[in-house]
Amino acid sequence: MDDIDLAEPHLLSWLATVGLDAHYVRAEGDHLYRLDDEGREIPVVDFAGGYGSLMLGHNHPDILACAREMLDHQAPVHAQFSRHPYAKRLAAELNAIVRRETESDEMYSVIFANSGAEAVEVAVKHAELDRVMKVAELRQEIAANIDAARAAVAAGEVSVSGEAAIAAGLDTTDFASLAARISEVNEARATTPPLLFALEGGFHGKLMGSVQLTHNAAYRNPFAALGTSVRFVAPVDISALPKIFDEERVDLLDLAVTGSEITVVCRPLPLFCAFVLEPVQGEGGIRALDARSAEQIQAACARVDCPVVVDEVQSGMGRTGTFLASSAVGLRGDYYALSKSLGGGLAKTAVMLARSSRYRPEFELVHSSTFAKDIFSTTIALKVLELLEADGGVAYARAAERGAYILDMLRSVQRDFPDVVADVRGRGLMLGLEFHDQSASAIPAVRRHAEGGTFGYAVAGTLLERHRVRTFPTASAPNTLRFEPSIHIGDAEVAQLEAGLRDVCAGLRAQDAAALVDH
Ligand code: PMP
Repeated sequence: MDDIDLAEPHLLSWLATVGLDAHYVRAEGDHLYRLDDEGREIPVVDFAGGYGSLMLGHNHPDILACAREMLDHQAPVHAQFSRHPYAKRLAAELNAIVRRETESDEMYSVIFANSGAEAVEVAVKHAELDRVMKVAELRQEIAANIDAARAAVAAGEVSVSGEAAIAAGLDTTDFASLAARISEVNEARATTPPLLFALEGGFHGKLMGSVQLTHNAAYRNPFAALGTSVRFVAPVDISALPKIFDEERVDLLDLAVTGSEITVVCRPLPLFCAFVLEPVQGEGGIRALDARSAEQIQAACARVDCPVVVDEVQSGMGRTGTFLASSAVGLRGDYYALSKSLGGGLAKTAVMLARSSRYRPEFELVHSSTFAKDIFSTTIALKVLELLEADGGVAYARAAERGAYILDMLRSVQRDFPDVVADVRGRGLMLGLEFHDQSASAIPAVRRHAEGGTFGYAVAGTLLERHRVRTFPTASAPNTLRFEPSIHIGDAEVAQLEAGLRDVCAGLRAQDAAALVDH
């Protein structure tokens, strides 16, 4: 029985085909350790950084101490539906940081979750509750206006105008017919499905709802029938958003009494549920949104009252040099999703921040999770914020400095191998190196990987085996390697990565059959 692997063995055997099926036994800072045949530890420098969850590195001593203290004091980890002073402090601290950085006075209400995908779904779910409640409020207003018009007709004060009858598609100015028609039209239109928008290349998770927002067709297509379809916006279409939104507009019909006449008035149906985007696309290949696009999205969304959900699951928590990557391009979220490094590399946690002016307290009664808001993860998250904010925020400055240092190194590799490296990009400790397409390579193994979409993984396997460097391609752009180490990454580790990249690039340029390790 011991030999049977029922824990995703298919994935493991796939990892083995590219030499990434390592077994790590210990982790500290920016290193993972595996054992050699004699049982000695072999350090591997970790540029994958837990897919963005290790801003502070593996097993940071202060985070460990915080966890130990809680466990030693028998902290009530699962005490749902009770007072949560630690969660209250975390929400206040998050607000202080976000308000400072966005230079805004607005408060954000916080809902707790367990993973990145969950936080995104919580934001969209809240946005939908808000939208549905707005539809109900609008319909109530219209019902009250119809009642008022009916009373005015009954009192003989007003009559239905000819234009009103035409607007409602009637050939009579009878009030009862008009009211019935308006109710019928509104009934049908009010149930128009919500509209969700996301950017091409975006990644927002793989759950039933969030996968609909994830652009990668391989992840999304098999499950398309399980969720609301999302309209993906290409970067070139961002400037056309007002037109795209206008085409989607649906109006409810309302009645107004103007002088002695009843007229029909169009009222826009709240139809826009959310526009979801990452300020720096992680899995999409480390692609940063520029300030102009951010402004265009913000303005177009504001015009139609479409809330902007800023997914900072990977880019947030200081990774790009500011707490929120979006604040650097002037993007203001109606919602923010944060996760990954919020858990300090130890806890699984996530939060959704909702702008107070949109917040619906009713949400708290209809949404919850057994594990969310527990004392263990929220206390660790508070410790993470304390470490990030310490000494005037040197952690943010360090993310920017270390990032610039690594980017310089990547640029030098690109300069020396422009025929192999197509681009290097990113901000702070969210960096990517894109290889040119290798499907015309003279090396059969390289060609096979390039054609099968596994080239980046084969490079990662080679870097691991020959240089003890761990990195991965981004999920939806597999020719781009990601580098997301902790803020404590040292010059020696960066040099180790550089040696590995130069070695791989030289092998690919020379069309050397041994350029990549063949498994
Ligand atoms: N949003 C973004 C931007 C992400 O990068 C990820 C994970 N890579 C997610 C959401 C999903 O997070 P999780 O894997 O914790 O569900």
